[in-house]
Order: sequence, then C-alpha cells, then structure tokens
Amino acid sequence: MNIKLTLLTASCALALAACGGNDTPPRDRDTAATPPPVAGDTAPDSAMGAGNTPPAATTPPAQPAGSTGTAGNTGTDTAAPAAGASGNKPAAVVNDCSTTIEGNDAMQFDVGSITVPASCSDFTINLHHSGQLPVAAMGHNVVITRAADMQAVASAGLSAGADDNYVDPDDERVIAHTDLVGGGETTSVTFAASGIQGNGPYKFFCSFPGHSALMRGTIQVQ
Ligand code: ZN
Repeated sequence: MNIKLTLLTASCALALAACGGNDTPPRDRDTAATPPPVAGDTAPDSAMGAGNTPPAATTPPAQPAGSTGTAGNTGTDTAAPAAGASGNKPAAVVNDCSTTIEGNDAMQFDVGSITVPASCSDFTINLHHSGQLPVAAMGHNVVITRAADMQAVASAGLSAGADDNYVDPDDERVIAHTDLVGGGETTSVTFAASGIQGNGPYKFFCSFPGHSALMRGTIQVQ
C-alpha cells in the first residue's frame, strides 16, 4: 500500500514536472526546446585520456646525452629499458642525487624514467611546470608509490581533492609527493632512497584528475 502510494506520488510528480515544463510555451518554441549541452562530469580518467591527444614528438630541451664529460657514464643509450605504455620518453638526468623534471600544458612529463643512484641516501625531485595554464586547470605534482598501488592512490587522491594536492594525507602507500604546481611554477620533494628499494617496481605519476593515464613513469634505485 505504502509503496504503491509513493510510487504513484512519484510518477505524479514526474508527470507534473514534465507537464509543467510544457504547458507554458514561450513565444519561441525552438529556444525552449534546445537545452544547452551539459558537460558530462563523469570518469575524468577515461574521458581525458581518450579526448586529449597531445602533440606528438615534442622535441625535448637540448640535453646532450652524456656528452658533457661526466665521469661515470654507464652508457645507458644503447641499453634503453623497454618503455611501457608511457611511451619512449628519455630517462631523467640525475646530478648529485637530484633531478629536475618538467610537466607541460599538454599533460606530459618530459621523462619516462628516473634512476636513483644506489649511492644516494636521499634523493630530490624538482618539478617544473613549463606550461602556462593555472594549477586549477592543468596542475601537476609528482607522487611516488609502488606500481601496484598507483591506481588506488590516484583514486584516493581524487577524493582528497585539490586542497590536499590530490593526495590523501593519511595514505601510507604514498612514498613521497610534491605539491601541485601550475604553469611557470616549481616545487620539489626529497625522500629517502630506501623507500623505493626492495618491494617494487615503483612508479611516479601526477595525481591531478585524469593525468596519471599519461603522466607516469618508472623510478628505481640502481
Ligand atoms: Zn598533472
């Protein structure tokens, strides 16, 4: 009885709503009949991943690979590790237990991997946003987790929201992370290299909504 009644009420309400919209025809029917398109706000990950095709082959900044006469050149250019879905981006240039990587307005990091020298106890990642878009539209950060934790950490970050840099502050799976930065800004994080040893593989990625599909790479101690 009660259920029937509520259903009845509901359908009545629906009918009323439907009728209410129609029984006051404005002079111009056409404008009333074409509602503005509603932007679907669901599933930023797949939507952005599919819709955004960044320009192919952005030439990286001129960085002579190993030609600057560094002492310990281990000749990595011949034995390039198989890059997975992240494409064939170069490895980060590491100096004095730190590296600087870039994120741009096309939702891309400029490197596909970071190798932390085994001699480093701490390691610093500087993140420079080389684009111009504001942080709310194209924010970038660097989050480091085990590869197996990446998706879950990204989801938890999504729930945490922009105020927490899209990183859940209580998420113990997060090994290290930077703040979010917008165009022209730089941030950095220093973490213990021991955090990415022994239980890998490990990934770095941007946890801004939808970005981890493209902005990700591998990080390891070697
Ligand atoms: Zn990003």
